[in-house]
Amino acid sequence: MTIIKVDNLQKSFGENEVLKSINLEVNKGEVICIIGPSGSGKSTFLRCLNGLESVNGGHIKIDENDLTDHSTRIDIIRQNIGMVFQQFNLFPHLTVAENITLAPVELKKMSKSEAYQRALDLLEMVGLEEKIDDYPDSLSGGQQQRVAIARALAMNPEVMLFDEPTSALDPEMVGEVLGVMKKLVDEGMTMVIVTHEMGFARQVADRVIFMDDGYIVEENVPDKLFDEPNEIRTQTFLDKVL
Ligand code: ADP
Ligand code: MG
Repeated sequence: MTIIKVDNLQKSFGENEVLKSINLEVNKGEVICIIGPSGSGKSTFLRCLNGLESVNGGHIKIDENDLTDHSTRIDIIRQNIGMVFQQFNLFPHLTVAENITLAPVELKKMSKSEAYQRALDLLEMVGLEEKIDDYPDSLSGGQQQRVAIARALAMNPEVMLFDEPTSALDPEMVGEVLGVMKKLVDEGMTMVIVTHEMGFARQVADRVIFMDDGYIVEENVPDKLFDEPNEIRTQTFLDKVL
């Protein structure tokens, strides 16, 4: 079953054509890792998938709802898509519990007590139940990112998007965040992950996508893409990062 269908997606910032023609289908339960050089349009692509950017051409369908159609209620679709950013983006003036329960309660998806119970369950899953009443700035980067993942899961999204979730972390904290993401993979979550963690991508991805200069240059199962890429541009990139 297809959850995301992207068709000839184009996105420019002024004269800068950032996404030139992106085509991609993501099926339920699939884990897609996106790799590629800085500036190739990876973050812009993820933001388009979540309706955070207006687009200049093409179509993005999430469960048959076309985000590029003006009558589509993007705010409703977005409730079904969790997003985790490089810079955790937790609300600093709210406790961990308040960060996690804010959206489900405000959007009337859950009562306060249901949302609190869900927050407890999610914090247990990410290994931080004892931090429930703490404020973000008392947590390490790895802990904050695990809370951000819990917050994104609080709305029970169908898809999770990750934009370099470990790039801002000290090296010793990368593993704990990847560990939580691995749990989601094992639970069958549909995930699109922009990452520089090539070992992780090789381990969890059903397909790896190499983006360069606004195009998907190549996509394949991890072992093929990493060990026997078809395109010189892919090999050149891998030679630099592996
Ligand atoms: P990546 O995530 O692969 O590093 P980005 O999607 O962040 O790439 O950026 C791709 C290009 O789009 C870059 O040239 C960047 O400067 C440009 N860009 C991204 N966001 C904006 C924006 N909000 N306004 C103008 N240009 C942007
Ligand atoms: Mg980026």
